[in-house]
Amino acid sequence: MKILLLGKNGQVGWELQRSLAPLGDLTALDRSTVNDLCGDLADLDALRKTIRLINPQIIVNAAAYTAVDKAESEPELADRVNGRATQVLAEEAAALEAWLVHYSTDYVFNGEGSTPWSETAAVSPVNHYGASKLLGEQAIIASNCKYLIFRTSWVYGARGNNFAKTMLRLAKDRETLSVIADQIGAPTGADLIADVTALAIQHILQRPELAGLYHLAAAGEVSWHGYASHVIDFAKANGEALAVKEIKSIETVAYPTPARRPLNSRLDTQKLRDNFSLHLPDWQSGVTRMLREVLNK
Ligand code: NDP
Repeated sequence: MKILLLGKNGQVGWELQRSLAPLGDLTALDRSTVNDLCGDLADLDALRKTIRLINPQIIVNAAAYTAVDKAESEPELADRVNGRATQVLAEEAAALEAWLVHYSTDYVFNGEGSTPWSETAAVSPVNHYGASKLLGEQAIIASNCKYLIFRTSWVYGARGNNFAKTMLRLAKDRETLSVIADQIGAPTGADLIADVTALAIQHILQRPELAGLYHLAAAGEVSWHGYASHVIDFAKANGEALAVKEIKSIETVAYPTPARRPLNSRLDTQKLRDNFSLHLPDWQSGVTRMLREVLNK
């Protein structure tokens, strides 16, 4: 079975290189062109040609324009990579009768209320990144290809930049950190996303009726402030020399950013757990494992 992975060096893409390898003959691309194969999602014609050259049974797209604030000033590029390129992938998957596995975000929701969002909840993004990711979802659903879309949240990996690493870096020099306490979600490991992806692919090959849109996040919930406290407490308990003495709670309104963020990022993962007989671990276990890896503890 031929598998094409796009975005191989992102947080999720890196872990997918590992988890997809046992499933088939994996071609993994980043945005560069190697031997006529181009993984640049901004180059739509080259992307189409590449898919036809490889002729995969499964396309896994971990590439995305993920710069949430920058997307406000680069909306065309965000739409091209997250919307139009996804449409190209979906059209080519439909033509090849291949599966398309794709990732989206809780940022398709407006963040109101405190109920975890189900897959059928109304979408209404509050920033351009969310809107561009929604374009991608809609293109896939309209294409009639066989697909899995996983909406996830607050992704971290041992490789790549993420919130936990930023907190550790800042905590080395600053005595006080101010962290948002009114946005709630679940930090979700790129390794968990990649492992669930591989399991789900094995299932859908046997049971194609399981195709569709799923919410995929670690269990439990926390604010960015609670997440930062967990990270700093772990680092201190394990002997890291940190200057930080206090982690202050602040509200989103006190920390203006170019892109608005939804307050409620909770995702209801019941459908994923039921359809694929999966257990999703609590967010703390994955974060602790990542910290052990990056701190070498
Ligand atoms: P990363 O930002 O770690 O990785 C994204 C990858 O996409 C990078 O390797 C980047 O390459 C690549 N990329 C960007 N533009 C292009 C392009 N034009 N052509 C080819 N590759 C490109 O993201 P994650 O791994 O965290 O995200 C994986 C998926 O999960 C994405 O669909 C994202 O939208 C979704 N998601 C992520 C969340 C998060 O908190 N990170 C939250 C919710 C959903 P380069 O390094 O060269 O720029």
